[in-house]
Amino acid sequence: MAMYRDTARVSDRSPIRPSARRILVVEDSPTMQRAVVTRLEAEGYEVSTASSGEEAIKLVFEAPFDLVVSDVTMHTITGVQLCRILRDDPATAGIPILLLSGDDDPRSRFWGRKAGADHYLSKRDALRLVEVVRGLLEGRPLRSPFVEAGTDRPPIDRLSRVLDQHLFEAVVASEVQRLMDVVHDRLRFGESLLKLVADVVSCPYIVLFLQGPGGPTYCVYARGPWPVGEPEVAATLVALEPGTKLDVEIVHPAGSWLGEPNAIEVGEVATIPVRVRGERLAELRLFSGMRPMAQEDVDTTKIIAKAIGPLAKSLFLMEETRLLALTDGLTGLYNRRHVADRLARELERFARRGTPLCVAICDIDHFKRINDHYGHNVGDNVLRAVSNVLRSSVRRTDIVGRWGGEEFLVILPESTLATARVVAERLRLGLEHAADGLDGDVHVTASIGVALATAEMNTDQLLEAADRALYRAKSGGRNRVEMA
Ligand code: GH3
Ligand code: MG
Ligand code: MG
Repeated sequence: MAMYRDTARVSDRSPIRPSARRILVVEDSPTMQRAVVTRLEAEGYEVSTASSGEEAIKLVFEAPFDLVVSDVTMHTITGVQLCRILRDDPATAGIPILLLSGDDDPRSRFWGRKAGADHYLSKRDALRLVEVVRGLLEGRPLRSPFVEAGTDRPPIDRLSRVLDQHLFEAVVASEVQRLMDVVHDRLRFGESLLKLVADVVSCPYIVLFLQGPGGPTYCVYARGPWPVGEPEVAATLVALEPGTKLDVEIVHPAGSWLGEPNAIEVGEVATIPVRVRGERLAELRLFSGMRPMAQEDVDTTKIIAKAIGPLAKSLFLMEETRLLALTDGLTGLYNRRHVADRLARELERFARRGTPLCVAICDIDHFKRINDHYGHNVGDNVLRAVSNVLRSSVRRTDIVGRWGGEEFLVILPESTLATARVVAERLRLGLEHAADGLDGDVHVTASIGVALATAEMNTDQLLEAADRALYRAKSGGRNRVEMA
């Protein structure tokens, strides 16, 4: 991959004589051009002139200058356009530019700034010209001969490349704006983004890796048929063992493989980060497949990556807001309201599909004593430790929430009573060690009541059944599982 390094050399100790400096003056009014040239020549600078933007581009692309002084308003290519063109070509990007305007028009000044001019001077302030030029050149090394790639191409080619780039950026910017509509939903966002990238690059596989409050998600796009099964493709592209549990979303499954099934040809890989103010939010990975990686694909993806930064940030902020509303501050588990909603939804699904559904209510034994004996802080740590055990001991499809103070609700969709008993027993055993690492040698146990949903139950009735089982576990001596 081509890298542009900052080629500025350490400046010489002794100041550079004005006569060693080459300045290009771009001005379509002969009188004004004469005036500027005279002033600069009087200072000893070596001055060349151009009477239009086109002429200036030709001269600057042909030979290096230390400074370009340009009129803002000219026919055809204006000073602002000239400025952008020079900024966008690697060979001319570092040349300082001073724009001169006839009137002190804020709009020109705005565009001048946007276009990357180093300084903006109203012609009314022409007396300050020499002072400003001196300031712009001070401390700068002498112009470097053109060393960058592409400088041997004819100016018109380079100009057209720069203009294409601008057009492309403008189009990308408007396409990216459309992603705003799906920024509340990470999967739809991922899907739309990958389709946009796939529209403009030729790589056969593209992966979007999103981080943020929603957890890590990989979105995978594959062009054409899958050489092998989806899980294998996804695993190879995100470098996981097949079958690894991670959020891998297949954005574009297309058709079946027609040739010999073989391992997927990943080819060269380019990783393009999506950053906002230095914070890495996501990355796009391109896989070149059977061909070498095209630099153009990488450059194009970089433009898109830059444009979507703020959108990825909005996505994450929305996710965070949603999470805050759903979770319990102390343990990070779902809060009571959210698990209650989830339970209602699961119960509806059960009614529709008839797949078994169980709930387990888990209550820490003699928790009051832990608080009384070790203090409330230790009690809080125990609650966090218990939550971690619960969270990590269930399947991804199970739902764990904090139901009350030291009481937790576990929803087990698609579980029979027999399965639920096994899970609950595993939780009970795991919880005996939940507090092991904590200060003060705390020992904790919990009692668990399990209930199976039946067709005539509503959520309250299901929870009451689990509660009754829990009561039996408590009265039966604690640290045990009871079934409704
Ligand atoms: P049992 O075995 O019968 O469940 O006894 P227990 O002491 O666990 O039950 P009880 O309901 O009498 O007491 C629960 C205690 O949990 C009382 C309350 O102070 C404590 N508690 C509730 N929420 C929190 C919390 O957020 N942090 C801490 N540290 N303690 C809490
Ligand atoms: Mg308790
Ligand atoms: Mg309790």
